Amino acid sequence: MAYLLALDQGTTSSRAIIFDERGSMVNAAQREFAQIYPQAGWVEHDAGEIWSTQIAVAVEALAGARIEPRQIAAIGITNQRETSVLWDRKSGKPVCNAIVWQDRRTAGFCSQLRRDGVEPDVQARTGLLLDPYFSGTKLRWMLDNVAGARERAERGELAFGTVDTWLIWNLTGGEVHATDPSNASRTLLFNIHKGDWDEEMLRLLGVPRAVLPEIRASSGSFGEASHSMLAAPIPIAGVAGDQQAALFGQACYTPGLTKNTYGTGCFMLMQTGTSPVVSKNRLLTTVAWQTDGITDYALEGSVFIGGAVVQWLRDGLKLIRSAPEIEELALSVEDNHGVYLVPAFAGLGAPHWDAYARGAMVGITRGVTAGHIARAALESIAFQVADLVSAMESDSGIPLEELRVDGGASKNNLLLQLQADLLGVPVVRAEVTETTALGAAYLAGLATKVYSGRDAIARQWRAERRFEPSMDRTKAAELRAKWSRAVERAKGWEEA
Ligand code: ADP
Repeated sequence: MAYLLALDQGTTSSRAIIFDERGSMVNAAQREFAQIYPQAGWVEHDAGEIWSTQIAVAVEALAGARIEPRQIAAIGITNQRETSVLWDRKSGKPVCNAIVWQDRRTAGFCSQLRRDGVEPDVQARTGLLLDPYFSGTKLRWMLDNVAGARERAERGELAFGTVDTWLIWNLTGGEVHATDPSNASRTLLFNIHKGDWDEEMLRLLGVPRAVLPEIRASSGSFGEASHSMLAAPIPIAGVAGDQQAALFGQACYTPGLTKNTYGTGCFMLMQTGTSPVVSKNRLLTTVAWQTDGITDYALEGSVFIGGAVVQWLRDGLKLIRSAPEIEELALSVEDNHGVYLVPAFAGLGAPHWDAYARGAMVGITRGVTAGHIARAALESIAFQVADLVSAMESDSGIPLEELRVDGGASKNNLLLQLQADLLGVPVVRAEVTETTALGAAYLAGLATKVYSGRDAIARQWRAERRFEPSMDRTKAAELRAKWSRAVERAKGWEEA
């Protein structure tokens, strides 16, 4: 039996999971680390702590599994995306804290670029929109604001990386400075058509090429993890950003296969095959992964408030004591009684894109109870996801056949039944819920011949439960039309 070690470096914790070759979890370890908020809108991590927690959980997971490092065929890395690290190549020390994906400090610069009218060209090259979310403007900020950084970068003394690159550098003792196309495609510096750094984007953002990592296939060789805390060297053979890794872990290998992760927010990716689909609905076009010399692409959309609306019912309204309780409360009523809750607490993301939208609850009459509000809250997650599906179908021209799901809120059966009813296609919950880590392990296993090909992995993928649509299609269309009217009322609430 071969084993694979997945390193899952997330926004709030570092995790390590050991899988056997059948894709079953053998052991896992997890450590949280500090979130640093230097001022409003800024979010940072100590890159040293990202590394120290990650290596510690790897060692802990190996020890607890009673597996020797030499029994591990390979390491797969998956990571919080877009978070940016800049370090000194000689000392290996970061020049400042990592700037986290959530950080908004470059919003002004992004608006300026948008006013300059460059967004269509940026979208054509990178598949992305001008938003502080992506790495490029974060790197520019570090080069402009850390004393001496720009000069040192131009002299080739500094190295930039997303978190995958930072971990690879440390695991290989500074031997390898590399990333994969799924992570590179989140930087605003990568041309998704050419599969390489884009000179025009480097010029626009003022980034010297000397700081950038080499780009290697997501499933391939990233050197050996030779750190002294590991008793024997292990090849690093799989790398992908967290959402793309989850798409791989959900075995979405043919165009049209789509996964949605129901977490705090929701992240949906549709595999669109070997040519990138440019979105007309302000979705993102991203590299899914590169394996065997072939690049697959995906369309991506996200919902800002997904499971978080359930937290609001728990912590804000105190209608429930724990997140799972929402299901029972929502099942205490027949239907939403005409109530629609639009959880635009932080504006609305794709496909609405309205930063000025705010939460709204409409359709309230005298008979409305807590049960109806719970129902409307769960429905709001499903409606938002359905809106994303419509945008993806329209961009890709591929009708959805089923939706593969994972994430904390996907435990909610009522939510998934509502989702199937609204979409009119089956919603399928995967047996292994750790799809992100599993995807990284699979990418590593593919490169090291643990698996003969993607087909072999696809055969291992198992559904835990399928939710079949049972609602009349006219009824579903009526509900969605009502939801759209509610969304219109929430839009543009906050004055610009
Ligand atoms: P993240 O990775 O974004 O931190 P998770 O995948 O751990 O999120 O999911 C946590 C989210 O799922 C929380 O917002 C929580 O409110 C929601 N959640 C957890 N269990 C349930 C449930 N049974 N029903 C509905 N929502 C749930």
